[in-house]
Amino acid sequence: MTREEYANMLLPKVMHDRAYYEEKYKKRNLPNDAMVTRIGPSPTGFVHIGTLYQAIVANRLAKQSGGVCFLRVEDTDQKRLVENGIEQILDAVKNYQIPFDEYPIDMEREVGEYGPYIQSKRVDIYQAFVKDLIIKDLAYPSFLTDEEKEEITEKQKKRKQRIGYYGIWASAERSLTMDEVKEKVEAGIPYVIRLKSKGSFDNKIIVEDCIKGKLEFPENDMDHVLLKSDGIPTYHFAHAVDDTLMGTTHVTRGDEWLSSLPLHMELFHVLGFEPPKYAHLATIQKEEDGKRRKISKRKDPEANVKFYSEQGIPVEAVKIYLLTLANSNFEEWFLANPDKDIEEFKVTFDAMSTSGALFDMEKLLNISRNYLSRITAEHFYKELYDWASVYDKSSLSDLENYKDIIIATLNIERNTEKPRKDYGMYSEVLPNIAYMYGDFFPENYEWQKITDKNEIKEILNTYIENYYDEDDTEEVWFNKMKSMCDSLGYASNMKEYKKNPENYKGNVVDVSTVIRVALTGKSRTPNLYDIMKILGVDEIKSRIQKVEE
Ligand code: GLU
Repeated sequence: MTREEYANMLLPKVMHDRAYYEEKYKKRNLPNDAMVTRIGPSPTGFVHIGTLYQAIVANRLAKQSGGVCFLRVEDTDQKRLVENGIEQILDAVKNYQIPFDEYPIDMEREVGEYGPYIQSKRVDIYQAFVKDLIIKDLAYPSFLTDEEKEEITEKQKKRKQRIGYYGIWASAERSLTMDEVKEKVEAGIPYVIRLKSKGSFDNKIIVEDCIKGKLEFPENDMDHVLLKSDGIPTYHFAHAVDDTLMGTTHVTRGDEWLSSLPLHMELFHVLGFEPPKYAHLATIQKEEDGKRRKISKRKDPEANVKFYSEQGIPVEAVKIYLLTLANSNFEEWFLANPDKDIEEFKVTFDAMSTSGALFDMEKLLNISRNYLSRITAEHFYKELYDWASVYDKSSLSDLENYKDIIIATLNIERNTEKPRKDYGMYSEVLPNIAYMYGDFFPENYEWQKITDKNEIKEILNTYIENYYDEDDTEEVWFNKMKSMCDSLGYASNMKEYKKNPENYKGNVVDVSTVIRVALTGKSRTPNLYDIMKILGVDEIKSRIQKVEE
């Protein structure tokens, strides 16, 4: 049996050879310093905030260098697959408007010349390369059962040796003859294909990481699995093959992969590939009991990108926040360039944290409040409506019926130097301004200093009968409020009031609060004059009437 026949026996279904794929995937024709980056999320039914973070970083790096960023779905771990997992990833990147150049559109369609962009569709490619390694005696079949693996692990633990399949542990299978292998294959014993590692644990390798700097590791000496018994590759092997054929120049990925670097280096080497540059991104962390830990899918709802959509935190705010986590100089840039598209910010490896950024919900909400205070009321309404269409359908009729009132309310004190920052989430809007529309039945009136019913009635009556005129400008309105205060024994002048409070029943703020609470139920609202303009004379009269009753 030649080695080729041997490889054919082990992988009988491979359609093409390695040369075919190397020819098919041409080197990308890009300027020298253009970066080709990617994300490789796995469809586990959960899109992690870290994936979005990596997507933003990878995208910026590619775009700002005139390169390419692609999305590759890594669905080779069949055990972790869940239904709709791929759709969830595609939806998330669409929702966050991450501008990939190449990506799967759905299970059938895609954009880009380097696909398929879903790994399960690339199985023939991986097998072609594994076959080549078998022919070159750089990979071999392994028939080890789970029990045998456990036995080895137990022995290694007992002897306090490194756990894994390497050296003497692998030597029996490594030296099976082709005929011995044939016998097992013909007997139907399942097998995986392993790397025949040439490394030695005593040798050191050095990798220059774009973020972490110079890293030193012991060489890989483990015979890691390349192809599982179902013919599907492991992450490691798929990474080496795909990132080579797809022309990735910079692998930006989570730093949980650091420990796999020695293996990846060996894989590139045995495959005869030039390794890409690596940029291992520190994970997003949380603080718990004074200690930092990785943000966790199990413990932290905010680890899931869906959380932000459900709560109604704007896409733009999340993106801005993730850029603050990515680069320490982003905030300063953003303050200096509030009107620029964040896509104009240049992400650099130098400004990236090597140890991990701390997730801070309050900061995200602040960014969100800022963002929502700076867009136009119409834009805000549209985002709110789009959000409600998915997450708060029961509010849609209010949003439609009272569109003008809602926009007008959102517009109060908006286009000013210091716009109001009332909302950090879409979900906060309607509950806060519901008093502006529909039937007005406040659960309770938040009366403040003035609580005496007669006093309240006197203020409201005097106001509506003698001082209210819907055509008044804000200045005239305010002056009338002051005159009314004087006439009723309240202080119109705050300074005077502070000097001799005992001379007055209260002051102009107390009086306007009575009107505010009568009209809204609430003691704190946006500008009262604007609210009155929106409510209109009939509504104002009817609300005052309600207090009188
Ligand atoms: N599929 C890997 C993961 O989900 C991607 C790692 C990479 O970007 O290479 O963690």
